[in-house]
Amino acid sequence: MRSKIVAGNWKMNLDFEKADDLLFQIGEELEKNTPQNVEIVICPPALYLELATDFADEIEFKIGAQNISQHTGGAYTGEISAQMISSMDIDYCIIGHSERRKYFNETSEELSQKVANLLEFGVQPIFCVGEQLEDRDANQHFDIVKSQLKEGLFHLSSSEFSNIVVAYEPVWAIGTGRTASPEQAQEMHAFIRTLITENYSLDIANETSILYGGSCNAKNAKELFSQQDVDGGLIGGASLVAKDFIAIANSF
Ligand code: PEP
Repeated sequence: MRSKIVAGNWKMNLDFEKADDLLFQIGEELEKNTPQNVEIVICPPALYLELATDFADEIEFKIGAQNISQHTGGAYTGEISAQMISSMDIDYCIIGHSERRKYFNETSEELSQKVANLLEFGVQPIFCVGEQLEDRDANQHFDIVKSQLKEGLFHLSSSEFSNIVVAYEPVWAIGTGRTASPEQAQEMHAFIRTLITENYSLDIANETSILYGGSCNAKNAKELFSQQDVDGGLIGGASLVAKDFIAIANSF
């Protein structure tokens, strides 16, 4: 179902005490200023998922993992499976973040396996796509995003695809302070929605949440979220400051 979503990707930040504090502060900010009809998703490091689920019992937010293994279980030291996060009532999992594609050489084949594992266990993938700066400069950004969607997702059946959230994250905007303009975001989001229409149907395209990610903050969120095809954001740096994160969630 198409919903407004603001998801915070904490990445590999915060020790346990600071993570606990941030969750507490998010709870306080939410009490002061509860966003209406917006799903808030917090994606802490895997080690803190249980802590986050304890808070989520009291406070209205959902929990996402940042990654899972492409394997389903067994002798894979250090890995976490889709079944494990599902058994902890985790709602979402980020898949294909550009940092994982770049630093962990994740291939489209692995990403589509991870998506399949999540869908099998009822966890919604937040599937990230986005071009590098040189792709945009060479006017290839649409082709890159199209092939990432085709290789990672478009083999899914319609009913499987309806569980997918797409996040458009231009790599040149992630953690750089350089955000896509609202027009650039809208143009790509509309393109993604058209591709979903072509591969599935207009109904499914209109029911898919497409989030923007890349230096989205409390100042620029309103303009980005006012675009017709932008259904919210995947937020990195600004999700580590409770006030900013909840201000972003209140920017629709
Ligand atoms: C991200 O890593 O998904 C992200 C959008 O980061 P930032 O908001 O810090 O650019």
